Amino acid sequence: MRLSRIIELNPYLQSFLYIIGGDIAIYVGMELLNSESKDITDEDITENIKEHIEGTDIDFEPDDTEILKLNTVRKTLYKLYSEKLAQFRRIRDKSTGWFIYYWWHEFDLLEEIILEKKKLIESKLRDRLEFEQNNYFFICINCEDSNIKYNFEEAFELNFRCPNCGGSLEAQDNQAIIEFLKNKIVLNENTKIAID
Ligand SMILES: [Zn+2]
Repeated sequence: MRLSRIIELNPYLQSFLYIIGGDIAIYVGMELLNSESKDITDEDITENIKEHIEGTDIDFEPDDTEILKLNTVRKTLYKLYSEKLAQFRRIRDKSTGWFIYYWWHEFDLLEEIILEKKKLIESKLRDRLEFEQNNYFFICINCEDSNIKYNFEEAFELNFRCPNCGGSLEAQDNQAIIEFLKNKIVLNENTKIAID
């Protein structure tokens, strides 16, 4: 029953959760969605997921006999928290003195978060493009695999000689990189985000 709800999960949210923390993040995200009316503890999330996957071949802890550890769920929740997709409050248990963590999701912020990431990617690509357009590089033909690039000043200082092998440094054509970056920028711009 719950599994079918996973399929209903917004595909953007689902893939975003997966990128953040793999399959377990999707399960944790579902639990947060299922307890929308009431904040849920990390212990309850763990128990609920264990119930759902019991009897299936899903095992989040392949290295030992447990199928899911509280610690795995906690780590996943913190990943969601650091991506601004989850929040918590903590209350000290008077009898044990331990903190109890109550969690809820912030999935409504997803669109904003994705747009922010898109902008970040775009500015990185544009910076890189500008850099490539304003700089051309010298590489050693003998050491080409080493990926060491020298800008004009550096190459000049080295007398256009490779410091590794003494081979001659030659100007590299970065037109292919520039084309690649331009295509990436267009692709990024055209990525549509549709979140209902
Ligand atoms: Zn060299």
